[in-house]
Amino acid sequence: MNSKITYPEIEPPEIGSGSAAKIAEGVFWMRMPMGGRIEAINLWALADNDGWTIIDTGLRTTETAAAWHQAFASTLANQPIQRIIVTHLHPDHSGMAGWLAQKHAAPLWMTRLEYLTLRVLASYTGQEAPAEAIQFYKAAGWGEIELDHYRARFGDFGKMLYPLPDNFRALEDGQRLKIGDREWMIVVGKGHSPEHAMLYCADLDLLISGDQVLPEISSNVSVQPLEPEADPLSDWLVTLGKIRQTVPNDVLVLPAHGKPFRGLHERIGALIQGHEDGLARLLALLGSPKRAIDIFPALFKRQISLSLLGLATGESLAHLACL
Ligand SMILES: [Zn+2]
Repeated sequence: MNSKITYPEIEPPEIGSGSAAKIAEGVFWMRMPMGGRIEAINLWALADNDGWTIIDTGLRTTETAAAWHQAFASTLANQPIQRIIVTHLHPDHSGMAGWLAQKHAAPLWMTRLEYLTLRVLASYTGQEAPAEAIQFYKAAGWGEIELDHYRARFGDFGKMLYPLPDNFRALEDGQRLKIGDREWMIVVGKGHSPEHAMLYCADLDLLISGDQVLPEISSNVSVQPLEPEADPLSDWLVTLGKIRQTVPNDVLVLPAHGKPFRGLHERIGALIQGHEDGLARLLALLGSPKRAIDIFPALFKRQISLSLLGLATGESLAHLACL
């Protein structure tokens, strides 16, 4: 499926060490630990007028904080952070943003919907799972064991991040940011999260793609209990088409997970094809009414464990909404 994408020979920096690999003049790659099925998140440091613009921040953990301390002592040469950009709300991207913003008196830049939605999701911590969410998952086919698992973990999201600053600077689609002496254009994508920001630099032929285009895995696209009638898979497919029109194929893609790669348009083609194949298998299965959990075999090769159930259910509902 990825036969046409290639990986340039860049030695990946050690995870959680604060060390970096140089991608281009003034562009550095660091990796912070995730400790799960995905081993690391990639962060990017861009030289910015005697300081740094940081793209994404890592999960809120002591390991990530230690790695940031090491990064300041080495890669970042104790130069100040001028600006923190968070591509989207998920905690591996946003987790340390509040910590960094406070320590360095640096402004946080996000799209409006990512910032505001993140504030809402973080506010769930300490609350009971809402009746609407329980109803949503019951209708998808969950039994009492699955619902209890959900209730017990409800609000964990907010524990994976430091409290955000109480203000932010808004990123918008098409906006151009001067970072150091380079211009970067914001490209907003939908489907994986509400208004995911990517950064494209035509000068350097680089695309910081966040979770919107990943080389090895397909990003989760889920209907969530917060917006049960949403159609994120259609949004996602439209976004992939838009990126292909906006960003040329010869860029080096800097994804949030996996290694930098070339072959953006081929990868987008494979991602779209993967979903279209899933939709076709799903349609074939829908001769009689089904709940979301009944259609897993059309979309997933692996057995769905309790810990993956929420993602799999959301993704199944997204395919149904798209059909
Ligand atoms: Zn994400």
